[in-house]
Amino acid sequence: MTSAPVILDRGGIDALIEALRARGHTVVGPVVRAGAVVFGEISSTDDLPVGITDDQEAGTYRLASRDDEALFGYVVGPSSAKPFLHPSGVSVWEGERTADGSFVTRAPEEPAPMAILGLRPCDLAAMTIQDHVFLGGPRDGVYGPRREGLFTVVVNCIEPGGTCFCASMNTGPRATGGFDIAITEVVAANRHWFLAEAGSDDGADVLSGLGGSDASEDHLAIVDRLLGEAAGQMGRTLVTEGLPELLKASLESSRWDEIAERCMACANCTLVCPTCFCATVEDETDLAGLEARRVRRWDSCFNEEFSYIHGGALRPSTYARYRQWLTHKLATWVDQFGEMGCVGCGRCITWCPVGIDITAEATALAADRKEAAHV
Ligand code: SF4
Ligand code: SF4
Repeated sequence: MTSAPVILDRGGIDALIEALRARGHTVVGPVVRAGAVVFGEISSTDDLPVGITDDQEAGTYRLASRDDEALFGYVVGPSSAKPFLHPSGVSVWEGERTADGSFVTRAPEEPAPMAILGLRPCDLAAMTIQDHVFLGGPRDGVYGPRREGLFTVVVNCIEPGGTCFCASMNTGPRATGGFDIAITEVVAANRHWFLAEAGSDDGADVLSGLGGSDASEDHLAIVDRLLGEAAGQMGRTLVTEGLPELLKASLESSRWDEIAERCMACANCTLVCPTCFCATVEDETDLAGLEARRVRRWDSCFNEEFSYIHGGALRPSTYARYRQWLTHKLATWVDQFGEMGCVGCGRCITWCPVGIDITAEATALAADRKEAAHV
């Protein structure tokens, strides 16, 4: 990988999208749909949320206009790479009955290679966590081919949102690896520019064809300063040291009852979470019995049926389900995969209809436990 950082203008970002399309990628990036920034197919910067920002707090998400033409001036919306790499409703097996009465299976369609532009550093970290889930053991037949063909353009965060805590989780606001190209957008009074850095040979190859100018020491210093300031402007923080042990020692805490009184077990938090991976399978046939397929759909530990086994649900109460979710994210995920299952994106806080905040609950549980240990 031999590519020095370059400075692009908006035309350079258009050239990047065009170059990725020319390489055969379906290019996906941030777009505004139904009042939120989500990922959808794009063909130019005109499709991006130009001049749009998002205000986020617990249980609140609103788009607003900016007074500039920033392309990436929002934080994160409800979608991430997850719906593209681990899609819900995907065929994992399908087949048909032939004229002679035998049943033949056919391989599900191979996905087209994709490029995602505008992933945030926390999204990239979430993808790495899902890599460990889906590729750490036997290669998942849905995730594997989508992930292997993926080109990633990450956009560093200089304006963290009200529910962000990636700095606490060491996943942002600057991506440090695992991307093909990393971009930092700077909107200054006199010039709007993007620092673009390659993180792979493919990234360097694409970058070399975009016609950018070499980044100066001043450009690099400005970006370092902005990203350093961003790390200190997170809307939330979470002290992770010793947290898994404290949470595992809090399984009987009365705090879970209190949370259960507010939690509606709606599963929003798991649907928007970029690391949650639980799924169920359903078998479908047509009415004539000629076509059949097995479909994998997202499921959630907040659904009672999810823990149904041998005639009953293992976690019949909301208390048990929220406890399962939070302790898995921040404690038992470490036992399972050697890392926490949370990247600090804040989506579960923003999109919880009653504003339950994982950082506040984990902090309160840890504080209660510490206090109990000192009584
Ligand atoms: S648990 Fe919440 S903050 Fe953590 S990765 Fe999932 S959605 Fe983001
Ligand atoms: S914590 Fe919030 S988003 Fe998650 S299931 Fe409960 S009410 Fe729904």
